[in-house]
Amino acid sequence: MLVVMKAHATEEEVRAVCQKIESMGYRAHALPGAERTAIGITGNKGVVEPGSLDEMSGVQELIRVSKPYKLVSRDIKPDNTVIRFKGTDATIGGKGLAIMAGPCSIESHEQAFAVAERVSQAGAQFFRGGAYKPRTSPYSFQGLGEEGLRIMADVRDRFGLRIITEAIDNESMDLVEKYADIIQIGARNMQNYSLLKRAGKAKIPVMVKRGMSATLEEFLMAAEYVMSEGNYQVLLCERGIRTFADHTRNTLDLSVVPAVQRLSHLPIVVDPSQGTGKRNKVTPLSRAAIAVGADGLIIEVHHQPDKALSDGAQSIFPDQFDELMTQVQQIGAVVGRTVSGIGAHVSGSNLAAVGSEAHPV
Ligand code: PEP
Ligand code: MN
Repeated sequence: MLVVMKAHATEEEVRAVCQKIESMGYRAHALPGAERTAIGITGNKGVVEPGSLDEMSGVQELIRVSKPYKLVSRDIKPDNTVIRFKGTDATIGGKGLAIMAGPCSIESHEQAFAVAERVSQAGAQFFRGGAYKPRTSPYSFQGLGEEGLRIMADVRDRFGLRIITEAIDNESMDLVEKYADIIQIGARNMQNYSLLKRAGKAKIPVMVKRGMSATLEEFLMAAEYVMSEGNYQVLLCERGIRTFADHTRNTLDLSVVPAVQRLSHLPIVVDPSQGTGKRNKVTPLSRAAIAVGADGLIIEVHHQPDKALSDGAQSIFPDQFDELMTQVQQIGAVVGRTVSGIGAHVSGSNLAAVGSEAHPV
């Protein structure tokens, strides 16, 4: 059930309706939109008994939501969700494309800084990197843990990049929430419901990556889990699915981007690195992702990919990332998007202190 408030409903009217819903034993989720606020009702075992809700002041109408996902749906919020970050002009889901780049794993201070310097100069506003790695083999590098998070926090201080990193369980989630700006839920955990609920209690945005065999509905339901706990700052990430094709590591399903955008107000970014597993395919698929309308990219970049402790074969070189950013800016312009990070370093951010030439774009 959805309570649609009138366009000019006051905050008090919204609050009163929320209180009424909670007093009926349900949970109220007020999602303000450009035109009006809608309040989602969850926590019901069966059909919601509307009681006198539709007679309350400021209420426009009550709508039954038949889809299994409710809070992620455009029914509750017709306009796109834009995630903002204090103290920066970086957004996810707005006109500006969100470009996240960095190594697969944080390996050392030196490695993280070498990559961060280059990607921030090229215009990325978000730095990716794993401190906790969900590896297929227990004998593979598992990440530096909290030490890796500390290095990422240093990267933020030095380069002004927002930090995105994966939490693999409740314990790492506590630490990731403490150090990072965005919590990443990995493909292997997309249906780890207790982890999704924990992410729903976090105070920072959450990126949910699509599971390797997840349908569109299962993907949206994972985001619904996070939102149902009260965290509405959620973005989705297409990172490739398992198919019979063996020329790439995964099959990057770019058609899911417009499919998600039709049903949901949440931003969706694309990960062509896990999506292809091959360095030579990252740039072409990144271009395609922007053309198809993705809200951003998350890309693995390494200054010495041959020495990378994970995913070196799909990590692009910083020079390739520079060129990709130029192309992203050009293709973005065609679909009405900008790259706000480009040029930011020239106009006196703390990067001036780094002392190296800005890449010309
Ligand atoms: C990653 O981003 O390095 C990663 C492990 O991603 P995924 O969960 O999509 O495999
Ligand atoms: Mn990786």
